[in-house]
Amino acid sequence: MQYRKLVERLKIPLPTLKIDPHVHTRHSDSSSSVKDVLNAARQRGLDGIALTDHDNIGSWISAPQLDSDLLIIPGIEVTTKDGHLLLLGIKEMPPEDLDAVAASDYTRKRGGIVIVPHPKIPFISIGESIIERIRPDAIETYNAKVPFAYITRKSIKLAERLRIPQTGGSDAHSDKTVGDMYTVVEAEDRTVEAVLDAIKKGKIRPAGKTSSRLEKVKMLFLLGVSRLMFWRRKKRRSLILLEN
Ligand SMILES: [Zn+2]
Ligand SMILES: [Zn+2]
Repeated sequence: MQYRKLVERLKIPLPTLKIDPHVHTRHSDSSSSVKDVLNAARQRGLDGIALTDHDNIGSWISAPQLDSDLLIIPGIEVTTKDGHLLLLGIKEMPPEDLDAVAASDYTRKRGGIVIVPHPKIPFISIGESIIERIRPDAIETYNAKVPFAYITRKSIKLAERLRIPQTGGSDAHSDKTVGDMYTVVEAEDRTVEAVLDAIKKGKIRPAGKTSSRLEKVKMLFLLGVSRLMFWRRKKRRSLILLEN
């Protein structure tokens, strides 16, 4: 505690950590295993990553046993009724079919934080009015898979207008792109709790470069498939409702 006070008084900047808070594994639609993803993170000089598989928390359960050097943040990219939402710091699956407000409440009640990923991507992103309602802890303005720079510019404008801190994330669906974009975090300790706390306090900035054109094209393909599956699931659900 005294050390922190001294650091504050002398205005010494805290050491920064490089964290990629948006990474997928084979537990959802990535082509890479948890082990390969963790190896890639270490090779790229990251201090930590959040494993954020789509609607699945399986990846982080095995991760701590595979690597003790990296900070591994439990997470999930949940498909809410309003679009994708990154939930960090929770260790259990939220109930299915929540809207963004309910998913945010669920996470915060469990001590987690909420990040809106890739705003401004059609069909999968949460709309501005709902972002204003949930007041996420951060908005991912730098997403390495975003195909056009103007989308990133629009995301930054949104975060600045709402005065919400900004993260960068690779949205990696393969170990090759882990850490392409990441978040520089001014955490008080090298712990998961301190990283989440720093994000909440806005002691962060996005950094890195976009993924290659080929990786972005692969992502657009995955996006198309996920839209198709979502549409089919919705159609099946409405048919069941009609039958009942
Ligand atoms: Zn997403
Ligand atoms: Zn993602």
